[in-house]
Amino acid sequence: MKAVDLRSDTVTQPTEGMRAAMAAAPLGDDVFGDDPSVNALQDKIAGMLGFEAALFVPTGTQSNLCGILSHCERGDEYIVGQMQHCYRWEGGGAAVFGSVQPQPLAHQADGTLALADIEANIKPDDPHFARSRLLALENTLGGKVLPFSYLEQATALARAKGLATHLDGARLFNAAVAQAGGGDARAEARRIARLFDSVSVCFSKGLGAPVGSALCGSKALIGRARRVRKMAGGAMRQSGVLAAAASFALDQQVDRLAQDHALARRLAEGLQGIDGLQVEVPQTNILFVDLTGAARERSAELLEHLRRQGVLATGLYRLRFVTHLDVDAEGVDRAAGAIRSFFQR
Ligand SMILES: *Cc1c(COP(=O)(O)O)cnc(C)c1O
Repeated sequence: MKAVDLRSDTVTQPTEGMRAAMAAAPLGDDVFGDDPSVNALQDKIAGMLGFEAALFVPTGTQSNLCGILSHCERGDEYIVGQMQHCYRWEGGGAAVFGSVQPQPLAHQADGTLALADIEANIKPDDPHFARSRLLALENTLGGKVLPFSYLEQATALARAKGLATHLDGARLFNAAVAQAGGGDARAEARRIARLFDSVSVCFSKGLGAPVGSALCGSKALIGRARRVRKMAGGAMRQSGVLAAAASFALDQQVDRLAQDHALARRLAEGLQGIDGLQVEVPQTNILFVDLTGAARERSAELLEHLRRQGVLATGLYRLRFVTHLDVDAEGVDRAAGAIRSFFQR
């Protein structure tokens, strides 16, 4: 029996249609700028999100690095949330490679950074301080959609204070699909993206491509990012074979994210009423479940029980289940049943 792999939406296999698009992709050498499939993808994502230019990169980590290092110089700082990927989960890359200092802030319960906290942490022009240069936000953050009105206010505050803005939109299209509520998700993605000076999007998460992210911004910013990508070793050659998968995902696998969101809700409903579990209401494709009371110390045991039943997840005290195009209702019900059986033993 195939495992129900809920560890991440990165575990997806390319579909038949995606593999066919990859096999048929016209290729060149992207370091010479003549891979037609890479160029087409960059034009497509830039156009979709309302930017002048885009850069295809191997990973979201590198995309954020290219973004931060294109906005900031040595001795600058970026304001960022404690739980954001480009602060917590990227090995301190902006500091290591760019001598750019993060100024992390605590998140509010809805995932936002309080406007007052942002404002209070923008430093005056004084030699004691790093130069506050950039505000970096993330949407979705832990599966939560940051309210659009908040994004408007936070980016307006940054602009008024002379800061540039970067969005880590690894799961931008999940946010857009949820925000559209059955309407035009592409229009919502563009509306969110246009608030920012740069946006990073992952193709290898819910969109289902095997590899790749894109950084979008002005021509000048993407020119600087191209230099960072080269230094980071991310300038690839016949990468059109990967870009074709990402293009296919943008054409075919955006609207279907709504199904992933429905599956996360289905799993949450399937876990109602189990003693020892506190189940969040998922906004998109990520469901967090807290272990409470005596169950708190049993997360390793629970994950092992699930693994033996062919269900994979991650977490400690707080379990994380991520839905994606390689799980279906039957799989989600199997996961819920396996979790329930653990607590009934
Ligand atoms: C996954 C992710 C990234 C980048 O991931 P890579 O594994 O480097 O492609 C960046 N930001 C967020 C919010 C992510 O979820």
